[in-house]
Amino acid sequence: MATRRTARETLAVSALRGVNWVSRVTRRGAGTVAGGRVGLKITPNLLAVLARDRSVIVVTGTNGKTTTTALCVAGWDGDVTTNSTGANMPAGHVAALASSQSRHVVLEVDEAWLPDVLEFVKPKVVVLLNLSRDQLDRANEVRQMSERWRSSLASLDGDRVVIANANDPLVVYAALDARNVRWCDVPTNWTLDAQSCPRCTLPLEHSSSGWRCTCGLAKPDDVTTSLNGELIVVGEHVALSLSIPGEYNRGNAAMAATALREMGVPLSQSIPRMQSVAGVAGRYTVRSWYGRQMRLLLAKNPAGFDALLSTVAVQPVDVWVAINANIADGRDPAWLYDVDFEALKGHVVWCLGERRLDLATRLDYAGVHYRIVDDLSTLPATTEPVELLANYTAFQEWMSRSVPC
Ligand SMILES: [Zn+2]
Repeated sequence: MATRRTARETLAVSALRGVNWVSRVTRRGAGTVAGGRVGLKITPNLLAVLARDRSVIVVTGTNGKTTTTALCVAGWDGDVTTNSTGANMPAGHVAALASSQSRHVVLEVDEAWLPDVLEFVKPKVVVLLNLSRDQLDRANEVRQMSERWRSSLASLDGDRVVIANANDPLVVYAALDARNVRWCDVPTNWTLDAQSCPRCTLPLEHSSSGWRCTCGLAKPDDVTTSLNGELIVVGEHVALSLSIPGEYNRGNAAMAATALREMGVPLSQSIPRMQSVAGVAGRYTVRSWYGRQMRLLLAKNPAGFDALLSTVAVQPVDVWVAINANIADGRDPAWLYDVDFEALKGHVVWCLGERRLDLATRLDYAGVHYRIVDDLSTLPATTEPVELLANYTAFQEWMSRSVPC
């Protein structure tokens, strides 16, 4: 039976909706975060109030959470509440939850906020994709993050399910004490942030079959889901052919399908719906700009960039890369040296963005041909879409200056 709200809780929800309505009519943006902040000020417990009596999937990790959230929403079908604007902290969550009555909810959660969100929202399913260093100014937090996730996940009730990536040692360590885990053996190309054991700090041994430490911490072998070419979930073989590119996105879809299965959605229904997703908030879509066509790809950190580089086709030869170093990107672009740009040998890379010279220097060391673009009008005309890889604010700039094809 639904629990009645107190007068204060009702006031908080009304205030949140009021602020967001004012933001919209005065064209100051969707106002989701502004309204959420006001609501949380009135009732810090608002997240718990709004999530009560609803079936919630929470998705977190350093890379792929926006795409995986979108895949969960698509795969569930029908009316699903989600924070699709990417406002992935509590103010964004309460705004999303207040904007819809749907009982099905998928929330993308910033990895640093997972323990806070789990305290208030009691999700049926928690999806842990991966943990790697994001921006350089936030480095070293990744082990601490795994430790914080661990104590939070250990306190989940036994009827809550954790869907966790078995190939990421930091995720495995975090989920180890959770009572109900479904391990997923999905492609994970980035292990540089887990060279030493999260439990005892000794070096980890990586092999083609997995990873292990002398202390006994190892890749779990009781996997629920595996994706080694073919997708298998609890013994069921499923054909998976996504519209969005990349082996990492197939891994995201495998974990989303495993999460939805826990919600009672059979794979025969969720997978076909996920396959129809062609773009996520502009990512992977072909856009046009003054007669040039480009496929926009977003990557914010070394792990994300490496995953994207593995999808760059041999043709066309030209690849555009745009790098900024604003606050949202991380001010220090030295992370470019952790990206495997050597993978672009054979291409010509057009260096864009405020930090195009840092990028060019990195490409020079990598032995990759490059051109520095000081004036965008000198970019060549394209007969077929080029790949445009951009970090956060550079991606936003290209989204706003281009139009869908
Ligand atoms: Zn160890």
